[in-house]
Amino acid sequence: MPLSNCPDCGRDVSTRARQCVHCGRPWPASRCGAATCIALVMGIVLALGAVGLIASKQRCVRERMEKCRVEMQKCRAEMEKRIQTEQKAQPTVAPAAEAKPAEPAVKEEKKEE
Ligand SMILES: [Zn+2]
Repeated sequence: MPLSNCPDCGRDVSTRARQCVHCGRPWPASRCGAATCIALVMGIVLALGAVGLIASKQRCVRERMEKCRVEMQKCRAEMEKRIQTEQKAQPTVAPAAEAKPAEPAVKEEKKEE
């Protein structure tokens, strides 16, 4: 069993004892303080870690949101382009159909030459 000297009476006291068996001094006060200190530090570290995690997650979500927004804008731009090209393509279909009968006439003219 690990022993330590009592700061009050200087006798060997078990470090596991809650108080000095010789003089009744709360024991071991220093270890208790260290334990609470460690617990406090651990708590702070954990809290900081949790805050850091939440912050990084929020950053991640923000980055993802930004990416999503960029993707959405790209998608919308593509859609608009497609709609515009479709709108442009529709009117050109009618002139093309009208232009087809003109082609044989051109060929006939070439044959005549
Ligand atoms: Zn003592």
